[in-house]
Amino acid sequence: MVTRTAQQIWDTALGELQLQVSKANYRTWLEKTRALSYKDNQLIVSVPNTFVAEYLDKNLRSLIEKTLIGITQSEIKVSITVDNPDRLPEANPVHQGLALVNLPATANLTRLNPKYTFDNFVVSKCNQLAYAAALGAAEKPGLPNYNPLYLYGGVGLGKTHLLNAMGNLAANRGMRVVYASAEQFTNEFVNSLRERKTGDFRNKYRNADMLLIDDIQFISGKEQTEESFFHIFNELRDADRQIALTSNCPPNSIPSIEDRLRSRLEWGLTTGIQLPDFETRLAILQNKAEKEGVNMPPDVLEYIAQRIKQNIRELEGSLNRVVAYSRLLRTMVTPELAGEALEDIATKHPKTVSRPALLLETVAQYFSLETSDLKSKKRDKSTMFARQIAMYFMREQTDFSLASIGLELGGRQPIVVSQAHKKIATQLEQDPELQRQIGEIQQRFTRR
Ligand code: ADP
Ligand code: MG
Repeated sequence: MVTRTAQQIWDTALGELQLQVSKANYRTWLEKTRALSYKDNQLIVSVPNTFVAEYLDKNLRSLIEKTLIGITQSEIKVSITVDNPDRLPEANPVHQGLALVNLPATANLTRLNPKYTFDNFVVSKCNQLAYAAALGAAEKPGLPNYNPLYLYGGVGLGKTHLLNAMGNLAANRGMRVVYASAEQFTNEFVNSLRERKTGDFRNKYRNADMLLIDDIQFISGKEQTEESFFHIFNELRDADRQIALTSNCPPNSIPSIEDRLRSRLEWGLTTGIQLPDFETRLAILQNKAEKEGVNMPPDVLEYIAQRIKQNIRELEGSLNRVVAYSRLLRTMVTPELAGEALEDIATKHPKTVSRPALLLETVAQYFSLETSDLKSKKRDKSTMFARQIAMYFMREQTDFSLASIGLELGGRQPIVVSQAHKKIATQLEQDPELQRQIGEIQQRFTRR
């Protein structure tokens, strides 16, 4: 038998769980989890917060364990741990029966994901500059030309992967690496204000040999956080400590950050990652299939690579999904089978994207309304509900931004769209009637 790492087992389990729970459930509770270790039949899974930990423990534990038993063919116990245990209220066991495990202090300090290395990053035309720059800066940190290193690109194109690869390489060489998403950075900063521990906060960051901040665009508009980052940035750069940042856009497109910070972000090397071409997508799939020991006919890999174009995370998710599907059906994988397994992903892209009007019409008809009602100012209960459902669908199934969804629906504010989406998504977790309705609308729409 091939020995599999904790993360490989967990990835396979996630692929199967994806088929067994609703999409919304999967996104909310499972997508952001990862496996930390697998020993003595115990799999330690880390989750982003206690809320998710409690939910998984209460509602999905038995399904998860059953799925894992199917995969490993042995009894397996799952322990759930929160990614960042230092934010847990002390002496407050989250939940009876929930095994909380403390991470070693270093893992907690760096939060690096060991899975992401330079070795397992597939290099091609679309990302070779970013790759070379990241590797260069990790090997010879602190050179002014590379400092800061600023990587930008769309969702799921490998920014977080490269940033972690830098951190892993540097940490292995004994450097003090501090890695945080800009969101974590912000939260820590806010907590430190509240607890009057801004000194500790600053020390943690300014003592870094290498500072890695993921999704830096997140701090835009958060003035105090930005200010604090600005000072840390200056200190580190003056001391020739390497700084690397990722973002969804180049520095000059980040909305509302101060000019003095913007110009500093441009001081070093800025490089973008482009969408992967077909050959790259195929190479990534081959790489992953091989690593996980799954035997997948070449035409199936090609099929998947042709189908998923925008996002490497989705590409990998699709492979997991196809593998899981064939395991469930116990049959050989063919491109047709892969097509079935990916059915709803296909309807999500790009066909749907060009059909927002049809989507609105489907929702309106389902509730015996006109599309114009959805766009109107009407505020009676049933129109408002239908409108929220429409927003939910637009958000889930198109690549439209919150703002453009708002525009499609009669010029509503992005925040309204985001609230509607959240409300429906939350309600969907526990409301079978709503699940039925959403399912029916989905079917009607898919058939059109
Ligand atoms: P981003 O941070 O840009 O949204 P991630 O770094 O999280 O994207 O990448 C999404 C997934 O795709 C990760 O599992 C990552 O390992 C994988 N991935 C992205 N680019 C590559 C690549 N060039 N080679 C191998 N895996 C990749
Ligand atoms: Mg990322």
